[in-house]
Amino acid sequence: MPIYEYYCPDCSTEFEKLVRLSEANIVPDCPECGEKHAQKKLSAFATSGGSTGRSVAASSCGGGGRFS
Ligand SMILES: [Zn+2]
Repeated sequence: MPIYEYYCPDCSTEFEKLVRLSEANIVPDCPECGEKHAQKKLSAFATSGGSTGRSVAASSCGGGGRFS
C-alpha cells in the first residue's frame, strides 16, 4: 500500500497518508484545517513506477500522430 505525500495550500501543511488503490483519487481531509484542498505530491512510489509520466505522455500525443 503506497504512502502518498500531500500539501495543503490553505494552511501550508504537508502530511502523508496511506492510500489504498481504490482510494487513490480521493482527496483526503487536511489534518490541520479539515479542508479537501490538499494536493498530491510526487513521491518515491510515483517516480519509481513511472505511471504518472506515462499517462501524461499518452494523453498528449495519442490522438494526433497515431492515425495520421
Ligand atoms: Zn490545511
